[in-house]
Amino acid sequence: MSSVPTLTLNSGHRIPQLGFGVFKVDPGRTERIVSDALEIGYRHIDTAAIYGNEDGVGRAIAASGIPRDELFITTKLWNDDQGTDSAFRAMDTSLEKLGLDYVDLYLIHWPTPARDLYIDSWLALEELQSEGRTRSIGVSNFLVTHLQRVLDEGSIMPAVDQIELHPAFQQHNVAEFARSQGIQIEAWAPLGQGKYDLFGEQAVTDAADAHGKTPAQAVIRWHLQTGNIVFPKSDHKARMAENFDVFDFELSDDEVAAISALERSARVGSDPAA
Ligand code: NAD
Repeated sequence: MSSVPTLTLNSGHRIPQLGFGVFKVDPGRTERIVSDALEIGYRHIDTAAIYGNEDGVGRAIAASGIPRDELFITTKLWNDDQGTDSAFRAMDTSLEKLGLDYVDLYLIHWPTPARDLYIDSWLALEELQSEGRTRSIGVSNFLVTHLQRVLDEGSIMPAVDQIELHPAFQQHNVAEFARSQGIQIEAWAPLGQGKYDLFGEQAVTDAADAHGKTPAQAVIRWHLQTGNIVFPKSDHKARMAENFDVFDFELSDDEVAAISALERSARVGSDPAA
């Protein structure tokens, strides 16, 4: 959609800065929910093999009739499939489920450093990109030490690092290092997964009230204005539409700073170092 800004990845491809994520979207309801998202105007969908709903995403894409080149589809290599041959097979399976010839972005979902297979996996992703089965490749949940190894041992730069990032957990060290290398940051759990009262924080409600918007919209604006790529998830069409309706206002620098000050190392997901 023309109202959604795009960012240029280091692969040269463009990514809509706002998308729709389908973590924990019930596989049986995924086609309906993704169809709703596409109807609202979302063109960027973030799924993963482990979510078990790639086929529902694929059916919604096929039913939409939207030209492939207007969509941006991301999926992810699951931990059990890390390695060379297993990564190739996993890509085949994901493409088949999605009903696509290529994805726009393929990510290593977690580094799982104890297994020490993420470099082999990365080299397989480089090959998948050169074969055109994915336009861009990237990583997820990689800390600086994992990124550094990919930079040292790979020959293609990750296009993105998709990390947990919301006002209470901003991972400045990872985000700053990634950006210094030209790697875009994708923020997962952008709304904190509803696990703490982000929407009750005064900085958030003040910003929302000042613009006649909801707390969720204020937080999504904070992400967009701080340069993050986001794909908030909701099962409810009204909330999906609310989360997409964020391009008619702008937070002031002070409002952005007040929300940024909510940092308190409050992780809601798993620790990638484990
Ligand atoms: P999120 O922060 O987007 O939170 C989703 C929850 O927020 C919803 O279930 C709902 O309870 C609430 N919500 C959404 N819109 C709302 C609104 N307008 N008002 C009030 N409440 C609202 O969390 P998420 O789904 O974990 O993250 C977004 C996406 O990031 C996922 O769907 C997935 O695509 C991706 N993700 C990736 C990883 C990874 O390891 N790479 C991990 C988790 C999520």
